[in-house]
Amino acid sequence: MTQPTIDGARLNRTLQELGRFGDSPQGMQRIAFSPDDVAGRRYIMSLMSQAGLDIRIDAGGNIIARKEGSVAGLPAIGMGSHSDTVPSGGKYDGALGVMAALECAQTLADSNLSLRHPIEVMVFTNEEGTRFHRWLIGSRAMSGLLLPEDLAAVDDDGVTLASRMSDIGGDLSRVDEAQRAAGELAAFFELHIEQGPTLYQTGTPIGVVTGITGRALFEVEIDGMANHAGTTPMPDRHDALVSASRLVLAVQRMAAEDEICRVATTGTIEAHPNAANVIPGKARIGVEFRDVSMDALSAAETELRRAVERVSSDEGVTMQIHRQRFTSAVPIADSMQAMVEEAAGRSSLESQRLPSGAGHDAQALAQIAEMAMIFVPSVNGISHSPEEFTTPEDCANGAQTLLNLLTLADERL
Ligand SMILES: [Zn+2]
Repeated sequence: MTQPTIDGARLNRTLQELGRFGDSPQGMQRIAFSPDDVAGRRYIMSLMSQAGLDIRIDAGGNIIARKEGSVAGLPAIGMGSHSDTVPSGGKYDGALGVMAALECAQTLADSNLSLRHPIEVMVFTNEEGTRFHRWLIGSRAMSGLLLPEDLAAVDDDGVTLASRMSDIGGDLSRVDEAQRAAGELAAFFELHIEQGPTLYQTGTPIGVVTGITGRALFEVEIDGMANHAGTTPMPDRHDALVSASRLVLAVQRMAAEDEICRVATTGTIEAHPNAANVIPGKARIGVEFRDVSMDALSAAETELRRAVERVSSDEGVTMQIHRQRFTSAVPIADSMQAMVEEAAGRSSLESQRLPSGAGHDAQALAQIAEMAMIFVPSVNGISHSPEEFTTPEDCANGAQTLLNLLTLADERL
């Protein structure tokens, strides 16, 4: 089969058109379930029907647009992303993956091409989690990963998830029906902006995602001794904030110098009593490690415990580590990464392997299907901001790689 070519101008036009729903001087405000989100979804569905797709909304509120394949009984290949934004967000996060998937379907329809497998363009509900402070709602519904707490969620306006769901055509009372059985999807592909600077800095048009980063979050509680800041000699102090500060630097070194894990951050710090004339008696810090390798996360935890022991004995304080959250990394199969590389190569596009530092719908879908992700450069690495930008050429390159990947997978899976 000759490789069909997407219409880059059309893709960029529809992408900008979707960006009109929820646009404001402070950036995009297309918050999940808002009137702008609903209007954006309606626009997407109008394009889906132009592309000759059969549209349904599942119980999780996801829009699924399907085209049957030429061979009966084969599982579908899914592709898509989310259409909601964060407050004051950009026009590319999520939207590009949705519009590119639609562009692929429209290109196939224009060239009268049917693949062997059915294809499904998917738009997931409330990826960002701005509403309900619970994210990946639609993709987790499809993958059977929703928790009882998710189902009982109430948003900041006091409205239940069940009610919001019915506003967009979902039905939380039947949400189990949104779950796809294992084997129902042959693969799922998501094109997304990188949201970081790597591809932009190296001038590489296509990123082959190696996996979605795991996250380990700890709270360290430090007990020293509060005392008079004027009368306590320096050698006699057990300063909780000094101890915390030494830990902050140790955490930074773990990623920046020793490369134990990809990134390490101390994002919060509290000191008590927080007064200029009192040696801090208590402190608390929040430490986060991220890596696509679970071994790296375990190594980081081990090193944190070592640093805590060292600083405790040096400073004469006691410290307690509380493990707060451990989100598993989602690795992507090497065979799928190789297929993305080949897909980019079919259009003579350079590619580079890199991990995803942010979470995506694809990580939920990985529970029920083979999964691959394509990244395109974010100018200056900026995202979740009105400044978020990916060049029209890079958007088109990403969509073409997605189409190449789809046709490759159709031949091989
Ligand atoms: Zn996104």
